Amino acid sequence: QRRAQTLAPLPLQAPIPAAHYRFDLHPGYLQLRAMRDNAARLGVENPYFKAHEGIAGATSLIEGRSYINFASYNYLGMAGDPTVCEAAKAAIDRYGTSTSASRLVSGERPVHQALERALADLYGVDDAVAFVSGHATNVTTIGHLFGPRDLILHDALIHNSVLQGIQLSGAHRLPFPHNDGQALERLLAAHRHEFERVLIVVEGLYSMDGDYPDLPRFVRAKQRHHAFLMVDEAHALGVLGPQGQGSHAHHGLSAGDVDIWMGTLSKTLAGCGGYIAGESALVEQLRFLAPGFLYSVGLPPALAAGSLAALRCMQAEPERVATLRARGERFLSRARAAGVDTGTSAGLAVIPAIVGGSMRAARLSAALWREGINAQPILHPAVPENAARLRFFLSCLHTEAQIDATVDALVRGLAALAD
Ligand code: PMP
Repeated sequence: QRRAQTLAPLPLQAPIPAAHYRFDLHPGYLQLRAMRDNAARLGVENPYFKAHEGIAGATSLIEGRSYINFASYNYLGMAGDPTVCEAAKAAIDRYGTSTSASRLVSGERPVHQALERALADLYGVDDAVAFVSGHATNVTTIGHLFGPRDLILHDALIHNSVLQGIQLSGAHRLPFPHNDGQALERLLAAHRHEFERVLIVVEGLYSMDGDYPDLPRFVRAKQRHHAFLMVDEAHALGVLGPQGQGSHAHHGLSAGDVDIWMGTLSKTLAGCGGYIAGESALVEQLRFLAPGFLYSVGLPPALAAGSLAALRCMQAEPERVATLRARGERFLSRARAAGVDTGTSAGLAVIPAIVGGSMRAARLSAALWREGINAQPILHPAVPENAARLRFFLSCLHTEAQIDATVDALVRGLAALAD
């Protein structure tokens, strides 16, 4: 009380607008409310944050009802696989649930090194390092390695985590049209010499469209212009290549063709986290210098053990990859034959049904939900407003009957939208 009296009075100035100190007037919250109001007006139920009551496999128990599930990246059916769960449980019994600090200070668990060795071997490179989040892997790796005198060229559809990493790095940024190697070449020819280091970032398989780049072309471009090439394998691992090894096996690349292999543990590997694999000079500096590794807790041993078991399972059971591929081909060919717009999908594990406006996508998702099918709508701004879609993530666990029933329901739902 006494202290307040001694404070000098505030100088007379224009009052601070309420929007500058209230979250309920924050532009993000206002946008969210507008979207909710719009959906409520059109009678569309909120499709997000549904609670799964068990393992989200080909089917999932949601709010007391079993749905055919296309909303999980459980490509090879490892999330919930008994071998993977057993490995994770054994690691909990041995090491507990947390490393409780950064690995640099609190130390390693042997399972970290085993996972990183297995990931490095997968790509035939020197080393790999695992982070606690796939998103943070991209942010901290790009943020650490590049700076304001560098240029980063990326596919127009690149994942948000790459864009955030670029922003953090302060590097110049130029997007090129999706999968357009020729446009990339033109940008390199025009701008390479204005910068110190140049990084090209692409994904091995794109999660919005289910298509993939002509990677050898990007390798040639990076070699010609002395640039680095980074490939995000989040959706390609377990899907591309005869044993699900990823883009390098699919395209017949050799170890040095890609400078930075990035991937996540959260999809095919049924865990949580991300990794970078490459030469020692890259991986070692990330281990000692990348803030998202250095100042963040180590991967919980159970997740490392589970992902390692999933990786071994993928390698030992290539029939999972073959089944996933067969299901994808079946879905794609049936959907296309029925006139569904599946865009440029290669029919591997990700198949969109592009329907136009966001509200159409939300209504179609609700129609499938009523038929016992869980497929999430992807709305603007994640995709352009006229390209909103439902996205179907396939798993090798889906049966042919589930695929057929889903395509039939999709076609019925699309016809009802037109009414
Ligand atoms: N890269 C891509 C291409 C992704 O799709 C995602 C997430 N879906 C990430 C990185 C981030 O991975 P995580 O969800 O494991 O943090």
